[in-house]
Amino acid sequence: MNLFDLRGKVAVITGGNGGIGLGMARGIASCGANIVVVGRNAEKAASALDSLRELGVEAVFVSADVTRKADCVAMIAQSVQALGRVDILVNNAGTSIRKMPEDYSEEEWHHVLDTNLTSAFLASQAAYPALKQAGGGKIINIGSMMSLFGAPYATPYASSKGGIVQMSRALATAWAKDNIQVNAVLPGWIDTDLTKRARQQVDGLHESVEKRTPFGRWGTPHDMAGVAAFLASPASDFVTGTAIPVDGGFSVAM
Ligand code: NDP
Repeated sequence: MNLFDLRGKVAVITGGNGGIGLGMARGIASCGANIVVVGRNAEKAASALDSLRELGVEAVFVSADVTRKADCVAMIAQSVQALGRVDILVNNAGTSIRKMPEDYSEEEWHHVLDTNLTSAFLASQAAYPALKQAGGGKIINIGSMMSLFGAPYATPYASSKGGIVQMSRALATAWAKDNIQVNAVLPGWIDTDLTKRARQQVDGLHESVEKRTPFGRWGTPHDMAGVAAFLASPASDFVTGTAIPVDGGFSVAM
């Protein structure tokens, strides 16, 4: 028995066209699942699809703005139409606006909450009937070190990522009856487009992450592949409602 065999399964990965989403998509694809990459930027998705197909699986792009309920419903319908079913949903799309709390507009607050938290709820709700029909499934939500810690420049981001952990627990308890496992992953500092911007905006961030992380380096999208494979596969069938840090030890270091 191969605990990590995902052949015949289909995974939908929001924001799978780059960064952590693509790293996770590659981890899940390496276990044999076919992949739906969801995002808004089709150009970026083209090279992501190539890198997934190199692993011998089918990969398609579905364009959606996951802050919109109608797009989430259409994203699942198009995934089923293209690849026949949905077994795994990775809610990875995310963004940040870095400012002091007193400087955010109401729109900026809602933009971050909608992109990081509401989207994960809407996509999970949209996927639920398909997961049930598949006989069960896996939802993997992406939190952050900001699910655990605060930072002066990250009030809406930390609020959304704290919410991801609690939402995962609540969904895990609701949908265990349907054989759906819901877990969160809390990445440490990973080198992506999102954190390139952070390093430009936050003085000394690059060095302070290296200094505090016991492994002494930033993570790469590839570092996120293994946890995705685990949480998507039968190896984690009795694991639900957890929040797993993948952070090179950042969250356990003084
Ligand atoms: P990227 O900016 O590379 O990826 C973000 C992805 O989200 C993009 O692919 C983007 O697709 C997609 N996206 C954003 N908004 C929407 C939307 N409204 N609808 C559909 N897709 C959308 O950043 P990361 O890879 O770093 O981030 C991925 C996740 O990991 C985020 O949730 C982030 O908060 C989280 N994270 C990142 C950490 C890091 O250190 N990098 C640490 C902890 C958590 P498109 O370009 O097509 O819009």
